[in-house]
Amino acid sequence: MTTHLIDGKQTAEDIKAEIAAEVAALKAAGRKVPHLAAVLVGHDGGSETYVRNKVLACERVGFASTLLRFEDDLSEADLLAQVAALNDDPEIDGFIVQLPLPRHIDPDKVIEAIRPDKDVDGFHPMNMGRMVAGLPALLPATPSGIVELLARQGIATSGKHCVVIGRSNIVGSPVSILLAKNLDTANCTVTLCHSRTQNLAAITRTADIIVAAIGRPEFVTADMVRPGAVVIDVGTTRVPDPSRKNGYVLKGDVDFAGVAPLASRITPVPGGVGPMTIAMLLLNTLRAAKGEVYPK
Ligand code: NAP
Repeated sequence: MTTHLIDGKQTAEDIKAEIAAEVAALKAAGRKVPHLAAVLVGHDGGSETYVRNKVLACERVGFASTLLRFEDDLSEADLLAQVAALNDDPEIDGFIVQLPLPRHIDPDKVIEAIRPDKDVDGFHPMNMGRMVAGLPALLPATPSGIVELLARQGIATSGKHCVVIGRSNIVGSPVSILLAKNLDTANCTVTLCHSRTQNLAAITRTADIIVAAIGRPEFVTADMVRPGAVVIDVGTTRVPDPSRKNGYVLKGDVDFAGVAPLASRITPVPGGVGPMTIAMLLLNTLRAAKGEVYPK
């Protein structure tokens, strides 16, 4: 079977070009451009890269951006005070607090403190609940990016059996909910698997679409995939590689070399889901600025 790469990078570029055109029109009309703030606590290598990419992406579409950096000894109370200040700042349309946070800070407390209309990561229980209820919401970026990627790549979802591996609040659970919605871009029969799932390979072999969001490099192997399946690899794990200048190689959750020849379509890592996450974060910020979900 011929493998066709799903080019998330190009699809994300298309979305960013659409956003940039809207921002240019706002500017031309003398209106305020969307403003995203990012809060980064500590010096986690992955988080530094993600936040840098998000800020750069803002600049490229014409958004204003603010990066607030703190050392990892920032207290929970001080972080909550920063969140409150961003909530109250009329200049800021949306903001993210980059996860993971240092162990002494409760991420749920921080997420719940973010005003839902500025919660452009879509993690606040209000946005999660609205998503589940099928109400307009700021949707979590990676799950909505996966749905958008399938739609823009013309991959049929209606009636398909989608097996999601991983049930985190950030990826697995919300993507399983979105893909099961009665929408043109969804309508799958979804099976959600996790570390307690028995006979995982037997289940994944029944999938038309596999979404792997586990965080274990090359976990999904050829024997777990039915020929012709669509494979979406969310995983991004830094595996040490001294031969590389940066000292690591980014690995997905799918054994690409083994699975790609079987799959009808497959996302690469990098260049698949990752760029879509950033594009959807920008889209959420634009929607927040326009008051599309929560009228201003
Ligand atoms: P997470 O919170 O650690 O969740 C991992 C999930 O995988 C859990 O539900 C866990 O099950 C399940 N799991 C672990 N071992 C398993 C096994 N042997 N069999 C079946 N399921 C297993 O991770 P996450 O935040 O969802 O992230 C997953 C991956 O996606 C990571 O590599 C992360 O870096 C990446 N990611 C990428 C993007 C992007 O933009 N590309 C965005 C977010 C995350 P239990 O619930 O039973 O423990």
